[in-house]
Amino acid sequence: MLLSNRINAIEESATLAMAAKAREFKNKGVDVISLSLGEPDFKTPQHICDAAKKAIDDGKYFAYPPVPGYQDLREAIAAKYQKENGVPYKAENIVVSNGAKQSIANVMLALLNPGDEVIIFSPFWVSYDALVRLTEAKPVLVKGTWENDFKVTATQVEQAITSKTKAIIFSSPCNPTGSVFSRKELEAISAVVLKHPGLLVIADEIYEHINFTGDQTSMASLPGMFERTITVNGFAKGFAMTGWRVGYIAAPKWIADGSNKVQGQITSANCSISQRGALAAITGDLAPTKRMVEEYRQRRELVYRLLKEIPGVKANYPQGAFYFFPDVSSYFGKSDGSTTLKNSDDLCLWMLEKGHVSLVPGGAFGDDRCVRLSYAASEKDLTEALRRMKEILATLK
Ligand code: GLU
Repeated sequence: MLLSNRINAIEESATLAMAAKAREFKNKGVDVISLSLGEPDFKTPQHICDAAKKAIDDGKYFAYPPVPGYQDLREAIAAKYQKENGVPYKAENIVVSNGAKQSIANVMLALLNPGDEVIIFSPFWVSYDALVRLTEAKPVLVKGTWENDFKVTATQVEQAITSKTKAIIFSSPCNPTGSVFSRKELEAISAVVLKHPGLLVIADEIYEHINFTGDQTSMASLPGMFERTITVNGFAKGFAMTGWRVGYIAAPKWIADGSNKVQGQITSANCSISQRGALAAITGDLAPTKRMVEEYRQRRELVYRLLKEIPGVKANYPQGAFYFFPDVSSYFGKSDGSTTLKNSDDLCLWMLEKGHVSLVPGGAFGDDRCVRLSYAASEKDLTEALRRMKEILATLK
């Protein structure tokens, strides 16, 4: 009752809530296979761990780091974007935070006023919508169609823009659909954005390494878009560093300065030792990342084949990230004799309780017909999880 209206207006993070539920079941001794959280099952590569251990032993990294991150890390991130993504960022454009989620929160707090509109490409990662509402701005969901691989088109963007639109946010590769925007598609969207002075794009590239298309275009690299884009990225997915909590933005200096101001008031800076690990990751050998990506590629094939064997499940073929977002709505209205499934929430809860597989309801990502399945799990677990799903879904009449 006493919580703020802002907090009452948002839900708990659905990804983390499902992960917590799966953990509860596991703690009770139930053999749950958790495919809810988007978390690599690989260990952080050794050279990154070694750099962090060395940082502790050096005894130089015990104090508050600079608010936007260590200078050498910011320079290394800027150099990576110059070299690999074709964006001329400098250290002054970079703010390192406690995960990409905090990076996005900083940006939203720095940019949005109550009543501003933010266009969110839907299906969307659960926290975009909540973070926009937390600032009392208004999320405007624009839905990509199944036929266009869930991707929003430039025409749809154009139609959704109003005088109140401040920003557009999307991820590519996309969490939860795995869709990837091609250079051509991003160029078409950028052409629309450039017609509207002041309109910004928040381009979430956290899955950039896990892109099977060979076309990873940064919005900020397109003509005219450097000044209009906030690039979001981090180390969690590409380097199996979810628990280290290191994300960052690369943005025009005025936006980086605004985010830095938010961060200075909220959390001072990102953990010193994690930043030393991140520096080793971004300056080091990408071979471990490439190995992980190859495994994800094989798992994608496995899961796609197994999903197609489940009657009534319609799966898209993801081009990146490590998620499937299958349509399971043919099971809505069906019952196992005691429970009738009305929506994706019901199906996920039932799947966890009866099938012992945890997934995330698609409703939280903007499409209640679907569920999200993370394939950042071993082939053994994936095979068993898909077997359980097929078996338990067959009990519905
Ligand atoms: N980003 C991951 C996911 O979507 C981790 C959990 C979260 O931050 O939402 O599952």
